[in-house]
Amino acid sequence: MQSANNLWQEVLRYLDEVAESIHLNPGIHAILREPKRTLIVSVPIRMDDGTIRVFKGFRVQHNLTRGPAKGGIRYHPDVTLDEVKALAMLMTWKCAVVGVPFGGAKGGIACDPEKLSPTELERLTRRYTSEIIPIIGPEKDIPAPDINTNPQVMSWIMDTFSMNVGYSVPGVVTGKPLNIGGSLGRLQATAKGVMFSIFNAAKKLGFDPFESRFVIQGFGNVGKNLAFLLFREGCRIIAVSDIKGGIYNPRGLDPFKVSEVEKKTGSVVDFRDADRITNQELLTLDCDVLVPAAVENQITKDNASSIKASLIAEAANGPTTSEADKILEDKGVFVIPDILANAGGVTVSYFEWVQGLQFYFWSEREVNLKLRDIMEKAFENVYRIAIKRKVSMRKAALMLAIERVADATKVRGLYP
Ligand code: NAD
Repeated sequence: MQSANNLWQEVLRYLDEVAESIHLNPGIHAILREPKRTLIVSVPIRMDDGTIRVFKGFRVQHNLTRGPAKGGIRYHPDVTLDEVKALAMLMTWKCAVVGVPFGGAKGGIACDPEKLSPTELERLTRRYTSEIIPIIGPEKDIPAPDINTNPQVMSWIMDTFSMNVGYSVPGVVTGKPLNIGGSLGRLQATAKGVMFSIFNAAKKLGFDPFESRFVIQGFGNVGKNLAFLLFREGCRIIAVSDIKGGIYNPRGLDPFKVSEVEKKTGSVVDFRDADRITNQELLTLDCDVLVPAAVENQITKDNASSIKASLIAEAANGPTTSEADKILEDKGVFVIPDILANAGGVTVSYFEWVQGLQFYFWSEREVNLKLRDIMEKAFENVYRIAIKRKVSMRKAALMLAIERVADATKVRGLYP
């Protein structure tokens, strides 16, 4: 609860700071400080034992000025309105940084999916979808996967929406399975974008990623796929973790072997050929590149000064608190902020949405080439601002994003 409140305060603090630096119009600043639309729903479902339980769900649309809203749906016990508001605002900035024509949204249900059976999870998803139907749709707001949601959950959302309107609507969600209109390359898109950002940073900073030691926190969609991609490229991953803890082997880990164990036992900590460590130990390991790819508020004022990595790529949303960010900046750590580093996911979601609207599907090569192009351009734009204005990459990315949203707001004018 506390951390969720913090994240909302953090994103507001960042907005206020950047608003001052770019002399943002006070009226537009006031608009951007609030989500445009907030929906809280109660989600009653019948459990397998016949009892009824009621869950709380949210969908927040932060801004729709540059296009329909876009953002993931998260299933987690700690989901709160403040967390969802913060993540929706970050989505607005992320879409603007990479220049995809969306505004930011986020959704979530406060629940523990580990304690729900597959049939309960399906009923929960379908009921939540029908509660938020008035505000979602291909032209309005397009959900996607986030923590503890996956292509199966997206299929149930797409099916529920389609059943309600009477025909198939693939464009209502992204991150769907391929056979119902998903995009090739979507599953690995976020991880691929993180990898491109790391390689772009390596070029600018003049270090060799193939001689570097990587540490990844989180072994889910983003963390695991990033580990696979880096390993295939020939990079050395010395530690990974999940919610149960981490594993460390300075000689390097084979993520495919770790994944086999994780599939069988439910956690990476059961992998034999490595030492067990805690998530806290993992963050402060001696390494070159640190990738937080789990949840928010992991790098804080308490551990930031002990971090040894010289590059941090924020694959997770909001993994670094603003106090920690200042400490890292003073130490000279190069941080690729979340709204740039993990924007590959929303970029390929955009491709999936376009393909869904046209019922015309692209090759994986085409998707990956376009993704690389967009990520490289976005990195270059942010880096140039960082150098020119002598600010961190985070501040530069926010400046670029907020200016783009503000320009769109100005040119559209205020209705009525
Ligand atoms: P996921 O549910 O697939 O995986 C999350 C991983 O983090 C799991 O391994 C889990 O065990 C671990 N984890 C959870 N809580 C933890 C904790 N307190 N300490 C350490 N590990 C913990 O989720 P994901 O889709 O991989 O998302 C990870 C992060 O990336 C989130 O912040 C999400 O918002 C962000 N993100 C995801 C996407 C995407 O396309 N999936 C896109 C952009 C950003």
